[in-house]
Amino acid sequence: NAYHKLLEENRKLYNQVQDLKGSIRVYCRVKPFPKTQSDQRSTVDHIGENGEIMIANPRKQGKDGRKIFTFNKIFGPNASQSEVFADTQPLIRSVMDGYNVCIFAYGQTGSGKTYTMSGPDVTAEETWGVNYRSLNDLFEISQTRADSITYDVKVQMIEIYNEQVRDLLMADDANIVPVKCAQDVLDLMKVGQRNRAVGSTALNERSSRSHSVLTVHVQGKEVMSGSTLRGCLHLVDLAGSERVDKSEATGERLTEAKHINKSLSALGDVIAALAQKSSHVPYRNSKLTQVLQDALGGQAKTLMFVHVNPETDSFIETMSTLKFAERVATIELGAARANK
Ligand code: ADP
Repeated sequence: NAYHKLLEENRKLYNQVQDLKGSIRVYCRVKPFPKTQSDQRSTVDHIGENGEIMIANPRKQGKDGRKIFTFNKIFGPNASQSEVFADTQPLIRSVMDGYNVCIFAYGQTGSGKTYTMSGPDVTAEETWGVNYRSLNDLFEISQTRADSITYDVKVQMIEIYNEQVRDLLMADDANIVPVKCAQDVLDLMKVGQRNRAVGSTALNERSSRSHSVLTVHVQGKEVMSGSTLRGCLHLVDLAGSERVDKSEATGERLTEAKHINKSLSALGDVIAALAQKSSHVPYRNSKLTQVLQDALGGQAKTLMFVHVNPETDSFIETMSTLKFAERVATIELGAARANK
């Protein structure tokens, strides 16, 4: 019986990996509706079984006020961190097999990007986000394979603010730091977070207006043959996607807003071009897409978590978030459906 269970689990994992063969996945996660707003209604009207999410316009009744978007997966407000990670895990495994993987967190400020990537409380393991769980997995896999493959792991952490790249680890050796275990990476992430706050009014403000990229480089060497494989994992916490009202923003805020808009649309253009298998992929239009060029396209795999804040006041942002996500996602979904 235990054997069958294992077989079943293996088959499930295999299917998941097969399922991830398409290079771009979009998962949508809905943040819980705040209890304090019981007089208001959630803009998320319905979540279907097959990746559909229905959004209701709070100002328009009936069919006209409703729109359905479809993604690879929707995580509702009650989805746990471990459920979210279960659908991410196959990608992490593929890094150890020599693939490049990019995981993005997209959404307006306050929609749950940090919650998904880092989690609300580092000290409570069950609340850990994708970052910590991924790192644990990488080192666990490295241990179980130790007899056949020896792995070297190095990390790098950068921030992109106003199209300027800044190294957050400020290390000497090409800013890539060797690590031995998940705890090493966690320690480095803390250093990175501290450095990120330097020179800004508040970390929260800074982090909502810059992109941060944590990169884990993996090099494996097969003990018997001596052949090597290389993979890398980019964990990207994007700047808040909210549109800043150009009539209100001035000076520094306006500059930041322009850079964020530019780089997020450049990212959307690149992913859409890849999904369409277009012959020209416009990597050079932003620092973000330049930095990630090697990990987007080709054999690389991309996962984007788009975050929805279901509050009434966020309706316009929610629609623009989902339209962005639809643009990078549906082409491939559409093709998959057509082939069925
Ligand atoms: P962002 O990084 O997009 O600015 P945060 O991750 O900081 O947003 O989330 C804003 C607030 O909402 C935080 O207090 C966070 O703990 C809470 N939150 C976000 N997502 C969830 C979730 N899935 N479940 C419970 N609380 C959440």
